[in-house]
Parts: sequence; C-alpha cells; structure tokens
Amino acid sequence: MVAEAKRVVVKVGTSSLTYENGKLNLRRMETLCKVLTDLQNSGRQVVLVTSGAIGVGMGKLGQTQRPTETEKKQALAAVGQCELMFMYDKLFGEYNQMVAQVLLTGDVVEQPRSRHNVENTFRELLELGIIPVVNENDTVAIDELVGSHFGDNDTLSAVVAQLVEADALVILTDIDGLYDSDPRKNPQAKRIPVVKEITDDIRALAGGAGSNRGTGGMATKIKAAEIANAQGIPCCVVSGEDPHVLYELFDGAQIGTIFG
Ligand code: GLU
Repeated sequence: MVAEAKRVVVKVGTSSLTYENGKLNLRRMETLCKVLTDLQNSGRQVVLVTSGAIGVGMGKLGQTQRPTETEKKQALAAVGQCELMFMYDKLFGEYNQMVAQVLLTGDVVEQPRSRHNVENTFRELLELGIIPVVNENDTVAIDELVGSHFGDNDTLSAVVAQLVEADALVILTDIDGLYDSDPRKNPQAKRIPVVKEITDDIRALAGGAGSNRGTGGMATKIKAAEIANAQGIPCCVVSGEDPHVLYELFDGAQIGTIFG
C-alpha cells in the first residue's frame, strides 16, 4: 500500500525540473523540496533521485543542443550537478531539511562489497533524518563501458529503491501515468490506474523518449517498475507538474498509474 509506505524513493526527471530552454524551473523545484520535507516531517523517510545534471549544465552554459560526445556530456554533467546540488541544498535548507549528495555508478552497486557499503551509507543518512539526493555519477560513468552505466535515472531510481528497501517508488514525470494509447495523439486515450502485472501488452503501450531534455520516456518507467515490483516494491508514475500531488498519493488517492 503506497499510502502506508514509510520509506519512499521519489524520482524527478529533467523535464520536470527545467524549462524548455534548460533553465531550472524554480517554482516547481521549490514546491518539490517543500513537499518532500513535509513528507519527511510527517514521519516518512524520503530519498530523492534527481536527473538534471546534463540539462542544468546545458542551461548554465547557454547550450540548447544536447551533445552526443561522451566527454562533452560529462563536462556538462560536472557543471550541472554542482548547480543542482547547490539549489537543492538552498531550497531544502529553507525548510531546515538537511540533504546529502550520493552519486552512483552501475559497477558500484553490482560489486557486493561496494553495494553493501552504499546500503550502509543510505541507512546511516536516513537514520540521521537526512534526505539523500541521488544521481548517476555522470561525470565518470561511461555509456560505452558495459556495467558502469545505468543509462537512465528511472532504472537508477528502481535500483536505489532496492538498495534502501523502500516501501514505494514514485516517479514524477511529464505525463500523469500510463495511457492505453498515446494521449498526445489520441484525445480518447484513457489512463490506466493500476497495472498488477507487467505483460508484453503493457510494454507495448510505452512509446519512445518523452522529451529532448531527459532520456527516459514510458519504456524506462515500465522497466523501473519491473525492477521495483520484483522486490515487492510498488511503483507509481505520476505527473511532476505540481509536486503537491505527492500529498494526494500518500493520502491514498488514485492518481497516475500504480504498478504492483
Ligand atoms: N543522470 C542524467 C542527468 O542528471 C539523467 C539521466 C536521465 O534523465 O534518465 O542529467
């Protein structure tokens, strides 16, 4: 039951955090930080998985085209991650909520020793009442190196949900759930409120990537839901347009799509 979840992982994507021009959507980010702090204040433990390093780096350097070269993306991520954390620290700080940066790569969670170490670190941070703010370590994770790269933060958020033994994973995105056909093309498209089992038919409903600023799209969300569900963790895909929806979700309202 999502409403009863005590430890929750919330993932926010680049398209929810930034405007089309790549600059930070401060109103949304501020609301997100306030709501997450409030959820934490109400007795839950929150882990935030955030994208936006490359997008914010592009915005900061005034670049509008996402580069394809690895070193360019990594340099942008190095600039953007710094800015992103600065903003989280500042905005959460307004509500007296401490945050900590955790940057992960695929190999770290695959090797038992480093995985164990990461689990311990998360446990310690959560016990201290700190919200870990997690991203992939884009500056060093290389696309071409198999195993080093999660590839997308939806997958990363599901892995983090496993690492912290979360009770629920919530993915905030630019659409309010999974639809039975593409709502951008078909006005009759209907939202599917609950997916008990992820079948090939469900996978077929996911199109490609959603925006040119993020990397996800519904396919990676379904993949994340599968990873989370395999550990018995429900996964909710809801609209990140107004982070206040998190209150509704944890009050038990049927919004978005709940997998599992
Ligand atoms: N880690 C990437 C970033 O922060 C985003 C990956 C994703 O959007 O899935 O830019």
